[in-house]
Amino acid sequence: MSLVSITIMLESHFINRILGLVKLGTLSFLLLAIIFFTLNAFFPLPVEKLHPPSSTIVLDRNGQVLRVYLAPDDMWRIPVGYDEISPLLKQAVLTFEDRYFYWHFGINPISILRAAWANLRAGHIVQGGSTITMQVARLMEPKPRTLKNKLIEAFRALQLEWKFSKEQILEFYFNLAPYGGNLVGIGAAAQFYFNKRSDQLSLGEAALLTVIPNAPNRYRPDLNVKMAHRARRKVLERLFRQKKITERDQEEALSEPIPAERFPAPFRAPHFADELKQRYPQLTKIHTTIDLNIQTLVENLLHQHLKPWRARGITNGAVVVIENKTRAVRALVGSLDFFDETSQGQVNGAMSPRSPGSALKPFVYALGLEQGLVSPQSLLYDVPVEYSGYRPVNYDNKYHGAVSMEEALIRSLNVPAVNLASQLAGGGVYTFLKEAGLSTLKQRPEYYGLTLVLGGCEVTLLELTNLYAGLAEGGRFRSYRWLEDQSNEAGKSLLSSGTCYIITEILSKLRRPELPSSWELTVDVPKISWKTGTSYGHRDAWSIGYTPEYTIGVWVGNFDGRGVPALVGAEAAAPLLFEIFEALLKPATTRWFIQPESVGVRQVCAVSGMPLSKYCPAAKSELYLPGISPAQRCTLHRMILVDEATGFRLCPVCRSGRKYRQRIVTVWPAKLASWMIEHGIPVDQIPRHYPRCPKIAAGQTPVILSPLANSEYRIRPDVPLDYQKLPLKAAVSNQIKKLYWFLNGRLIFTGNPHQIFFLTPAQGKYKLICMDEEGRSSEVQFVIR
Ligand SMILES: [Zn+2]
Ligand SMILES: [Zn+2]
Repeated sequence: MSLVSITIMLESHFINRILGLVKLGTLSFLLLAIIFFTLNAFFPLPVEKLHPPSSTIVLDRNGQVLRVYLAPDDMWRIPVGYDEISPLLKQAVLTFEDRYFYWHFGINPISILRAAWANLRAGHIVQGGSTITMQVARLMEPKPRTLKNKLIEAFRALQLEWKFSKEQILEFYFNLAPYGGNLVGIGAAAQFYFNKRSDQLSLGEAALLTVIPNAPNRYRPDLNVKMAHRARRKVLERLFRQKKITERDQEEALSEPIPAERFPAPFRAPHFADELKQRYPQLTKIHTTIDLNIQTLVENLLHQHLKPWRARGITNGAVVVIENKTRAVRALVGSLDFFDETSQGQVNGAMSPRSPGSALKPFVYALGLEQGLVSPQSLLYDVPVEYSGYRPVNYDNKYHGAVSMEEALIRSLNVPAVNLASQLAGGGVYTFLKEAGLSTLKQRPEYYGLTLVLGGCEVTLLELTNLYAGLAEGGRFRSYRWLEDQSNEAGKSLLSSGTCYIITEILSKLRRPELPSSWELTVDVPKISWKTGTSYGHRDAWSIGYTPEYTIGVWVGNFDGRGVPALVGAEAAAPLLFEIFEALLKPATTRWFIQPESVGVRQVCAVSGMPLSKYCPAAKSELYLPGISPAQRCTLHRMILVDEATGFRLCPVCRSGRKYRQRIVTVWPAKLASWMIEHGIPVDQIPRHYPRCPKIAAGQTPVILSPLANSEYRIRPDVPLDYQKLPLKAAVSNQIKKLYWFLNGRLIFTGNPHQIFFLTPAQGKYKLICMDEEGRSSEVQFVIR
């Protein structure tokens, strides 16, 4: 045989050997694969055990933890994603636990052999040889450490590697690892040991958290600082030896303190967090719109503000801050102290329905403007009036005659607001509030009637604040948002931007309690539109304000509904409102609302507030809505002709041939004139029409025919009152179309001269005035016994 053939023979022999090995390898690999997939089919991976029940975590808009709730099994678990885990920690764990993690397939035969050798030499178990994947398998299904269980773990590890990526497996490890006590997973460990997120850890912290899962109860720092120290040093030394960190890194990390106790569970915005946990039970991570900085600021200011009031019987308060542009709730404080049981601190005052007092009035005037019933200087009557048995009175129990709409809103008068509300079309305030989203108006409109505008209903601070945000947004009404990913709805446009601008300007003129009366001159105070409310019986004090950026609502009161005289919106709630605004707004950058093109400026009569006529003595200017606001010229100031010789009034018919002069008179509407006369306010006396004028026959002043003047009526006890009614009758000249009847100064009936009003008798002394539309009147007195 030649050398060549021998070589070929040897080579072919060698190749055959190799081929044989390959065949064997392939066969055994196939066999193993068949075994694996058969087992895999019979014992599928219990994937649900990789996701044990989580704590519910409520976060602020920047991911800061507001609150964490225990998981249903009383463990703290804050799941984190792979990217939310500090790279330092990942590196430390891989270096310390499983250097070949990215190379093996779930089992590392070399480290198993090495561990077996080490254990054999030591005579007991000193090394596990487990890969991270096998540890995940064990954490998923904890079992005693036996050889059989080890084999199961190895099989599970193969399954994990087959099903998941390396990064997913590492993420499972970090979320399942025990960190001592009831802390499970790196999220909870970072939170409770360091009050940090798991992506914010330092090297020293990462080193400590690397080693704790090896023996959680031995190494947990809050119980065993010395052991924790030693274990951390071991990790850092290994990292240095493997050249993952420098010596200096190691020194610095070693000098970091070890936490001696766990941080308490975060407890920020407790009412808000409770509410959201209850509303969204399916969410374990609730990303809210709260801004923890604003929340904390508001909580502190509420504390400071209420301190002096507690002695006066006011124990609680609530605050809501809404960002107008996004309608995001940026702060919600439900009570002064969540843990104060004597004051029912767990009640969420921001979401409890309570009477708003006058806080809804701006919407009455807004609708009045929108419907063209009034403009800011329109005169409104503030005189006694009755609506089928309901007689509104003012807060100070006084009437003020006639006031401008602007003044009525600023002074929060009740009677003009009720009068205007009674004239509103389209369902009035009730329908508006319903459409704007108030969920607390549960009854039918008749239930509330006109008292609705004076607070005869219930609202929550959150919804009321959001309602005002609609004014700040130029009439767009939509719901608030409290989840970061909640979509921003388009909402409904219920008021024009012009109307909102005018109301906003009026509300910015309210005198602020904390500033001197000339505060308008102090430039660095941000302008704010605001309104207060005080509920019946001094149970609730409200103050709601807005700027282009924020709308803030403050409620102050007692949760037991106890009334306290000091509970007045302007005093108990408003100062806090301004403190919060001043802390939130930087005057230098604060802008104000831009006047819409639909708003104009015009000159109106200084007395009547109606567009100027040529007889008006003085003018003032007002904002108005061209094409919508009342356009009738002043009817108060009229020019009359007075006969030089007799002093009688002349008309175009009787003036010819007589010497006369012009005189401007103020003709008040009858309702108002009688109230003014009664209160000693001088009213222009309008001279009687020239009696010999051919145009009128006789008696142009109304003559009361019934009841009879100076007579006495007796009520007969044997006859029903309905049969004893007194008719009111008067004779008037035929031009007169309307008569006003006043009984003891109160308007009781308005009608044409042919309508007869029947008065139900009641004992008393009476003065009855009948006035015609030109202000001429006569009166009778009578007695009913
Ligand atoms: Zn006038
Ligand atoms: Zn005449």
